[in-house]
Amino acid sequence: MLMEKERIEIAEYGRKMSSSGLSKGTSGNISIYDPETGYMAISPSGLDYFSTQPEDIVVMDLKNNIIDGTRKPSSEHGLHTVMYQNKPEARAAVHTHSTFCTTISCLNMPLRAVHYVIGGAGVPEVPCAEYATFGTMELAENVEKVIGKSKAVLLANHGLVTCGPTLAKAFGLAVNVEFVAEMQWRASCMGNPVVLSNAEMDVVMESFKSYGQPSKAGEKKDGTGY
Ligand SMILES: [Zn+2]
Repeated sequence: MLMEKERIEIAEYGRKMSSSGLSKGTSGNISIYDPETGYMAISPSGLDYFSTQPEDIVVMDLKNNIIDGTRKPSSEHGLHTVMYQNKPEARAAVHTHSTFCTTISCLNMPLRAVHYVIGGAGVPEVPCAEYATFGTMELAENVEKVIGKSKAVLLANHGLVTCGPTLAKAFGLAVNVEFVAEMQWRASCMGNPVVLSNAEMDVVMESFKSYGQPSKAGEKKDGTGY
């Protein structure tokens, strides 16, 4: 099976995404990109994550062609493609309708540095892309317009997309960004949240580079800490 390891990992993280509450029902999708072949493995459209098997995952190139698989790919494959085209270091992308990120996106607002873990996105503010219908190239293009140096983008009235050098890191970032969105919402309910300065966020982002246990040879850090 083409990209077997990646397909197994996507099926596993799909179950994780559903059980962690990051995405409800069949919403949300996950992909892994292999720069050597130029192929991405992506979750199928509308299948329950708990019944998705590795063979249900679809392999595509970045030009909308299906290379392997019998299922229809996620309708957001264009969104995933844009992440890999704009982020040369990205090897995985995660799209969710997580509750608090989606709440902030319904206000068409960016995520602010109300908590320092936002630094995991590589920027002090996570932008919100303009609304476009789900599954359209227009939505993907709107993300492309605002992504800049960020590894995460809110999608207006829709949800969130993140990327990372591994699926574990892209998933961990989606979890952390959801936490920041919840803090922004909770703090806004009580007053005006204090936003950390760009200078402080520069210090935080520098510290993140050396955070955690040093990697042993062959060991993948999951990037969900801080
Ligand atoms: Zn969506």
